[in-house]
Amino acid sequence: MSSPERTWKTIESGPHTYKEALHPVVINNYGKWKYHEIPRPGVLKHVGESGDTLFTVRAGTPRQDTVDMVRQLCDIADRYCDGHLRFTVRNNVEFLTPNGENVEPMIRDLEAMGFPVGGAGNCVSSVSHTQGWLHCDIPATDASGVVKSMMDTLYNEFKHMEMPNKVRLSTSCCSINCGGQADIAVVVKHTRPPRINHDHLSMICELPKAVARCPVAAIRPTVVNGKRSLMVDEAKCICCGACFGACPAMEINHPEHSKFAIWVGGKNSNARSKPSTMSIVAHNLPNNPPRWPEVTDAVGRILTAYKAGGRPWERVGEWINRIGWKRFFEETGLTFDEDMIDSYRHARTTFNQSAHVRF
Ligand code: SF4
Ligand code: SF4
Repeated sequence: MSSPERTWKTIESGPHTYKEALHPVVINNYGKWKYHEIPRPGVLKHVGESGDTLFTVRAGTPRQDTVDMVRQLCDIADRYCDGHLRFTVRNNVEFLTPNGENVEPMIRDLEAMGFPVGGAGNCVSSVSHTQGWLHCDIPATDASGVVKSMMDTLYNEFKHMEMPNKVRLSTSCCSINCGGQADIAVVVKHTRPPRINHDHLSMICELPKAVARCPVAAIRPTVVNGKRSLMVDEAKCICCGACFGACPAMEINHPEHSKFAIWVGGKNSNARSKPSTMSIVAHNLPNNPPRWPEVTDAVGRILTAYKAGGRPWERVGEWINRIGWKRFFEETGLTFDEDMIDSYRHARTTFNQSAHVRF
């Protein structure tokens, strides 16, 4: 029962404002940083207009962290950083301290615990990857496993700044690609349309919702054994898997027919050149757990060629634009075929862009 004195309203959900968690030096210099530099791999030094200095030590994490591991990281933060740490979008953990003397012992402790320090500057950063089997309802593979396999081979590229520019990687465990744009993206590619379980479909799926999901209007209502159901026009279907997210009875995942594709040249920033979208340069790579050697090999070839041939500050897409696709395939040893480098020039006119339900 409310009392007359009680005038405040209880907030029952939602996160705290992030500002409560910022390091005091960050709060005091918020929006007033003068410059920053990278004195050694994995360490950033920010200098504020006030003269304050803040060191950030960045370490890679496996992303799916145990409580014990988080406690260990918190111990480091308590020991060296006044209790402050933060996680980046790429699953790195960052420790912030105004005391430069804390940097070396902190690196030593992190490395001793198995956390590689790096991921800043001209290196291969941690992989921005999607939920996989742990959280999502439609993955065809385990993005985290692919990331682990790739980064095991790229460990030194994370720890050293030997690339022409930073390299951003992403992986996605379905074709929807919530891993997003990257210099090199590993994305699941389905190679056959969904199989429809008509017995289940009419009982568990909202038919209009599944119809509306399809970007190419390939799904139509039909009647099977006297029950309302759906059919897929396989000539139109682009095997994107969007319908499976709306309707589990439209299963598209398959251990053999759901494969991997590699896309390159994505860039979100407008530094030096305008932002660019990715192009597909390898596909039909098998979904081959637990180490996905074919994927790791293709990514390794691209990185080796880029490292050898990229000019200082060229991103992967800029390097490819300079040398041309022909040389890209020669230097990486990847095999070109007619389904690659599709820029989807006509997508705007051929994709169904209407949100209306069609019955
Ligand atoms: S990429 Fe697809 S399956 Fe993976 S988390 Fe994102 S939406 Fe889910
Ligand atoms: S949503 Fe995608 S997978 Fe499903 S029918 Fe349409 S194009 Fe095919």
